[in-house]
Amino acid sequence: MKINQQSARIAVSHQPTADSHLAHRNIPITIIGGGIHGVSIAIRLLRDMPTAVKQLAIVDRHPQPLVQWQRKTEHQGMRFLRSPAVHHITPDALGIVEYAERHDRTDELAPPYSQPSTRLFWDFCNDALAELEGHRVYYQFDVAKLRWDKGAGRFPFRLISTNNEGFRSRCVLLAIGTDDCTYVPPEFVQWQCRYPDKILHASQFTVNSEDKRESKGKIVIVGGGLTAGTLAGSLSEHGHNVVLIARQQLKTEQFDFPPVWLGPKALAEFASETDFRRRYETIQQNRGEGSITPDIMERLLDTPNIDIYPETCICDIVEAAAQRLRVETTRGVIADVSRVILATGYRFDLRRYGFLRELITQHQVPLVCGFPRLDDDLQLHPIKNLFGSGTIAQLQIGPASGNIAGANLAYERLREKFISHL
Ligand SMILES: Cc1cc2nc3c(=O)[nH]c(=O)nc-3n(C[C@H](O)[C@H](O)[C@H](O)COP(=O)(O)OP(=O)(O)OC[C@H]3O[C@@H](n4cnc5c(N)ncnc54)[C@H](O)[C@@H]3O)c2cc1C
Repeated sequence: MKINQQSARIAVSHQPTADSHLAHRNIPITIIGGGIHGVSIAIRLLRDMPTAVKQLAIVDRHPQPLVQWQRKTEHQGMRFLRSPAVHHITPDALGIVEYAERHDRTDELAPPYSQPSTRLFWDFCNDALAELEGHRVYYQFDVAKLRWDKGAGRFPFRLISTNNEGFRSRCVLLAIGTDDCTYVPPEFVQWQCRYPDKILHASQFTVNSEDKRESKGKIVIVGGGLTAGTLAGSLSEHGHNVVLIARQQLKTEQFDFPPVWLGPKALAEFASETDFRRRYETIQQNRGEGSITPDIMERLLDTPNIDIYPETCICDIVEAAAQRLRVETTRGVIADVSRVILATGYRFDLRRYGFLRELITQHQVPLVCGFPRLDDDLQLHPIKNLFGSGTIAQLQIGPASGNIAGANLAYERLREKFISHL
């Protein structure tokens, strides 16, 4: 299977996106976040209600939709999605498969579950995004503050951008992903403060940029999930010596949550749990500490320039000669380290989103382990007509919430409410 890894650009036309186009307007439905969730839900809504196009705005800090997704997959050198082809951004389950057949690209659907190549996924997304093209739906608008003026008429939400432009909305969907919640384990905070240009969270790191550095030392990757595995594989292919350090034994799984979580039985049981802390624990148990897909694991085990240290902790990181780091672990010392990459993921906490802080405090939005207790229809209790999709909705949607498939599950709950606002 030969994949052209060159990045595909999302071809949504660069619409006149300045936030001033929204200034002083009243928009029935606003989606904050033009990532996988925001876009999937917008496309589903527009297919159900084509007239919604004049009443919908997707706002995002980036000039184009899906930028975050594109950057992350590209920066890690990810070649194939983890999820099967049926999970994507439009409601027609076979969309990608049919697209691959039409374009003679079925070799980009990997066995055993037809996982699409990232390139095929992009091209399909480009095609689907053409539905938004021509309509003024997507706006570059970095939300600095969201206010809810309860009782302020039909458009109680006020969105204010970092440029101090504002508009009003009747209903708002938070599809804000997890980017504001990068997780750095506590013991790494001091080391990162000491060596900020050498110890990076995976979200700040690009595999290709590492090649431009003149001298190549060892690269230590911390983490046992797919990001750690993908980065290790990509860096080794670029000729780097890599040490992968995980607190536990590496786990091999095709998916990042058991697929039963997409079916009605598990979801009904989850919904019947009234203790939201227990729901949180169920999610932790089912998503675990991360796992690596069988194909990536095979690649890791077959590659001579990757050392794997499972069940290992880092005790100290100190600077040694020639600006290299010395990483002291419970298995011994790793010398000549040029970089430490923390593939330690994200830990969602609504309080970390600056634009929501005042709203959460003012209206006493209850949180369970950082997650809002959404109502059945994904409303952020007690704020009426403020909804969530993505990781933010985990306590209702379950372990699949932050994944691509979670957008479909969320839309099923949101659909009626949204349509009633149009
Ligand atoms: C490398 C990688 C590979 C993955 N592979 C898969 C996979 O194969 N299958 C799968 O199901 N899942 C996968 N996932 C998980 C998940 O599907 C993705 O993380 C997905 O991008 C989540 O979509 P999202 O819309 O919730 O968040 P994002 O894509 O992060 O989008 C959120 C958007 O909100 C915007 N935003 C946030 N705050 C503001 C603000 N104040 N103002 C304006 N805009 C704002 C951001 O700019 C961003 O564009 C993967 C994740 C990663 C990182």
